[in-house]
Amino acid sequence: MPSETPGSRKPAYRRVLLKLSGEHLAGDLAHNIDPKIVARLSDEIAEIRSLGVEIGVVIGGGNIFRGSLAEKLGMDRVTADHMGMLATVINALAVQDALEQRGVRTRCLTAMDMREVAEPFIRRRALRHLEKGRVVIFAGGTGNPYFTTDSAAALRAMEIGAEVILKATKVDGIYSADPKQDRDAVRIPSLSYLQVLEKGLKVMDATAISLSMDHKLPIVVFNITVAGNLRKVIDGEPIGSVVRS
Ligand code: UDP
Repeated sequence: MPSETPGSRKPAYRRVLLKLSGEHLAGDLAHNIDPKIVARLSDEIAEIRSLGVEIGVVIGGGNIFRGSLAEKLGMDRVTADHMGMLATVINALAVQDALEQRGVRTRCLTAMDMREVAEPFIRRRALRHLEKGRVVIFAGGTGNPYFTTDSAAALRAMEIGAEVILKATKVDGIYSADPKQDRDAVRIPSLSYLQVLEKGLKVMDATAISLSMDHKLPIVVFNITVAGNLRKVIDGEPIGSVVRS
């Protein structure tokens, strides 16, 4: 067998959709955006881009605003969700700026029109950007209230023909129980969409899971807080958990 130097492998995917939560961008801060986290994340995205992988990114907004929480505090839900979607645009611009500073060409596409800030989401345009090697950042979720950016990730992944959703989380994958509360919890390397739905596992929301199930779109859940993990996933290393049929 030819000897393989680390990182000499061909990427396991040609086109991916990376889902980043807003919470991750906040790092240890309760809210807001931690520039150190954004910088590290951008280094890792730049690295996988340099391998030739086409990358779409859907960014959440939970570090700034969550519609469901605001509703509980008495706000009109639709207005609150509009605020949540705007929050995702703030995060998207932060990540776009950091990527561009690293020489990565990007485009930010928003689900709602805000032309002075970003391009509107037009699928064919998104595909063209990807083909040209630009990292495409999808902001504004689905553009509709009552949805989440997880659902936006499933939707955009299908629209751009991504081979996989890479769901970045703060844990090493999907566990049989909450590893923080149960010492016997074990990581499940592979499970079906139905298992996720039936067990009510908090991988992505049910809309995103069922959309992915209907279209047989695999989801890799992995720990983005560990440096190098994104590259490992791209290299096809069996880290995290995979949800597929
Ligand atoms: N949101 C929405 N429609 C969408 C996507 C997001 O209304 O299609 C709003 C919703 O209020 C949500 C907020 O934007 O709480 C932030 O998104 P999300 O909670 O998915 O962010 P994450 O948890 O990934 O940081």
